[in-house]
Amino acid sequence: MIPQAHTDAYLRGTLRMGEQLARHTSWRVGGPADRYYEPADLDDLVQFLRTVPAQEAIHWIGLGSNLLVRDGGVRGTVLCVTGRLKGLAAIADNRVRAEAGVPCAQLARFCVRSGLSGAEFLAGIPGTVGGALAMNAGAFGGETWRIVLAVETIDRHGQIRTRFPGDYKVSYRSVVGPEQEWFVAGHFQLVAGVAAEGKALIRSLLAKRGTTQPTQLPNAGSVFRNPPGDHAARLIEATGLKGVCEGDACVSELHANFIINRGKATAAQIERLIGIIQERVLAAQNVRLEPEVRIIGVES
Ligand SMILES: Cc1cc2nc3c(=O)[nH]c(=O)nc-3n(C[C@H](O)[C@H](O)[C@H](O)COP(=O)(O)OP(=O)(O)OC[C@H]3O[C@@H](n4cnc5c(N)ncnc54)[C@H](O)[C@@H]3O)c2cc1C
Repeated sequence: MIPQAHTDAYLRGTLRMGEQLARHTSWRVGGPADRYYEPADLDDLVQFLRTVPAQEAIHWIGLGSNLLVRDGGVRGTVLCVTGRLKGLAAIADNRVRAEAGVPCAQLARFCVRSGLSGAEFLAGIPGTVGGALAMNAGAFGGETWRIVLAVETIDRHGQIRTRFPGDYKVSYRSVVGPEQEWFVAGHFQLVAGVAAEGKALIRSLLAKRGTTQPTQLPNAGSVFRNPPGDHAARLIEATGLKGVCEGDACVSELHANFIINRGKATAAQIERLIGIIQERVLAAQNVRLEPEVRIIGVES
């Protein structure tokens, strides 16, 4: 592990030892990270990565809106660029470059304001550009990688590369690419649009979410991927699991594919509830649901 004084000598970001990751996940659960670093900017991130020992695990988080961090926390280094890599600019030919720490909602609104259409679906996804690229986030028929022209990545040695969609295997909520390389920016291809129409579309998409999703209590959106030709929510509801709880972790009454934290849920309770849902849906519907949420860390 690098002594903090050494790190402080030339790095400009924020380093915290034992940072509670519950502060960085939308479920509000998750134990401590050995080391947690928010870089000041891209140059600082490059410098920081060069200091991370070769054998140390590196985890990236965005807004933690698709992440279950176990109660024992995460060994190694957690990097969070949210609000730090925040560059957002329109470039030529209806293209926009957005850095990984930009919230999806900000990207969607920026495109609309710039007279560009195609990113409106991102308005209601409560994650970052980096998270959307990693998850191929999508909604209401739109999908992140359908508008990706190129991405900028960084590896654990701090080397930055430009990569293209052909370098990745992209499918529904899945993006498989070069190992140990993370997204620092995306270049998005939009089409010319009318700002007022884009704004109206965003308003209507957000209104739809307000009525179909439990927005008041901590959650991580859809917990399971939709199986081919069906909906996880339908299968969970048909199995009679709405309202079923494990401690303070409950299957939402409003949207059966959401697990809400009623207040004091632990990651272990959420993970147990995920297991219960999988078992009961398999028994009742003969379908094995696969989690969409990413589970990291160790049990306490
Ligand atoms: C209320 C609610 C509604 C939601 N609705 C939708 C929806 O409609 N559609 C949808 O697709 N999702 C939805 N989600 C899930 C979530 O918002 C998306 O998956 C989002 O893309 C995650 O982004 P994030 O920044 O929060 O990533 P995190 O949850 O922090 O991380 C998710 C994964 O991405 C990786 N990652 C994060 N940043 C980077 C990076 N820069 N480079 C490489 N890997 C990275 C992490 O390591 C992790 O594996 C919803 C969630 C909530 C809470």
